[in-house]
Amino acid sequence: MKIAFIAHDNKKDDVIDFVKRYKDVFEKHELYATGTTGRLLNEIVGLKVQRFLSGPLGGDQQIGAKVALGELDLVVFLRDPLTVQPHEPDVNALLRICDVHHVPLATNVGTAEIFVKALKSHIDD
Ligand code: PGA
Repeated sequence: MKIAFIAHDNKKDDVIDFVKRYKDVFEKHELYATGTTGRLLNEIVGLKVQRFLSGPLGGDQQIGAKVALGELDLVVFLRDPLTVQPHEPDVNALLRICDVHHVPLATNVGTAEIFVKALKSHIDD
């Protein structure tokens, strides 16, 4: 599956911890991420990740374009709900385009955990 990760700055530790815990699952998939999130997943977790621009510079929109084109199967977007983001319109656009195209979207670790369970059963199928 093609999976994209985006984590706002206050959620970077969470995404690293989460992906580390399920590295064995995620390494079997094609991974994408916004700039800094992707660099951290590559350097700290050791996964191969195709990186887009940083979120505030257009990375969210690049991921949204892939969703619109049917080129992503799942999005993990750990948003920071307590901090105003300069690229809030891009954030909303990404959430919207996932809904338009029925692409599963996890905006917190709780939902992302359930995605992992689904990914594991997908692998076992
Ligand atoms: P980043 O972008 O991975 O480049 O930090 C995430 C965001 O803030 O949208």
